[in-house]
Amino acid sequence: MDCVLALDIGGTKLAGALVDPAGTVLRSATRPTPAADVLGTLADLVAELLPGAAPRAVGIGCAGPLDLATGAVSPVNIPSWRGFPVRDELAALTGLPAVLAGDAQCFALGEHWVGAGRGAASLLGVVVSTGIGGGFVLGGVPLLGPTGNAGHVGHMSVDPYGEPCDCGGRGCVERYASGPNLTRWALAAGWQPPRDRPDARDLAKAAANGDSIALAAFERGARALAAMIVSAAAAVDVRTVVIGGGVAGAGEILFAPLRKALDDLSGLAFLRSVEVAPTTLGVRAGLAGAAKLAWSAVA
Ligand SMILES: [Zn+2]
Repeated sequence: MDCVLALDIGGTKLAGALVDPAGTVLRSATRPTPAADVLGTLADLVAELLPGAAPRAVGIGCAGPLDLATGAVSPVNIPSWRGFPVRDELAALTGLPAVLAGDAQCFALGEHWVGAGRGAASLLGVVVSTGIGGGFVLGGVPLLGPTGNAGHVGHMSVDPYGEPCDCGGRGCVERYASGPNLTRWALAAGWQPPRDRPDARDLAKAAANGDSIALAAFERGARALAAMIVSAAAAVDVRTVVIGGGVAGAGEILFAPLRKALDDLSGLAFLRSVEVAPTTLGVRAGLAGAAKLAWSAVA
């Protein structure tokens, strides 16, 4: 079977798959991300996938930040990896050519290849979760940037006088629209959560039941996302935006105010025609993108 090996490395889960040239997953496996020896667990995962297969390359999507020049990563959620040379380590482990990109860049690439943004002329993929990540695919090619960090749209400022962000910036969209920040704002505004330490799913449920503070939190987050999307589209002429991540699971609770805010914030015709869609691949988008990366290294 003609295939590549795709790996998706995150702070909670390691996922791997063998993927054919059409984007079909032939075999897959996952492991929880361990606190230590992440590479050993990856080796174990790869050993489960490889028997009887001869993949032609390995594509790696990894939580950032990363440094494309050295192939090293320092994922915020994997404290044991700081400047870890993941690309070279996995090339050595598998004996295959290895290609690396950020996890959200792989999300965008996967959605462009076989998901909600299939074949789009230009695409922005946004992952709205604990944080907010993103990736661009322009003219069919992922935009990685010289350091590999292009698409960090969560830290685009939507309010230069806004609140300080954990990143050291100010008014970042993540500060308004990530899951923890949606609930943080709602709690401060007097939301009565159904349990201790509620998450964005609890908030979405409350909004679906008509809770006015929960609805206001999503409206505020959606407006921040819309401001980021309009700015990003103005910069690189994005035609299609695909949104995934846990918060996108809120569905119309998020997408209805998002479309309304986009309508309010965009003026120029090329911005008004930007299409926004929810992910169709969900958690599999990252693996699909990593596979596409690997195939582009083969071709
Ligand atoms: Zn920030």
